[in-house]
Amino acid sequence: MTSNSSKSSGKSSNKNSGKTCPCGSGKSFDLCCAPYLSGAAVAPTAEALMRSRYSAYTLNDEAYLRASWDERTCPAERITHDEPTQWLGLEVKNHHADGDKATVEFVARYKIGGKAHRLHEVSRFVKYDGKWLYVDGSYPAK
Ligand SMILES: [Zn+2]
Repeated sequence: MTSNSSKSSGKSSNKNSGKTCPCGSGKSFDLCCAPYLSGAAVAPTAEALMRSRYSAYTLNDEAYLRASWDERTCPAERITHDEPTQWLGLEVKNHHADGDKATVEFVARYKIGGKAHRLHEVSRFVKYDGKWLYVDGSYPAK
């Protein structure tokens, strides 16, 4: 009677907090966007802020999206929504900073209800009181 129960019972060597950051930086979440979302650190560049906002979208972090949005352009209605969105990835194409203004061009891919979307946006940011804030975005023509 050698019923050797196969050793397939989860032997994952997960490092608990070693979750890869949703923004696609390749770094762990804790060392990338998490400190910005929690308020422990301020995003040092517009690109870092943009990445953290992408991560906030993947986590439905409405409060962070508002906190990082210029109050003059921040929409009154809810930013996140209930439709389950599957975030597929972020690609930052360009980052241009000039003093307290910056633009970040990116492509974000996601799925809603099985339908794939591709958002190609050039976001504008301003630095106000030492913090980068999202202003608005435009969509480059192909
Ligand atoms: Zn990140």
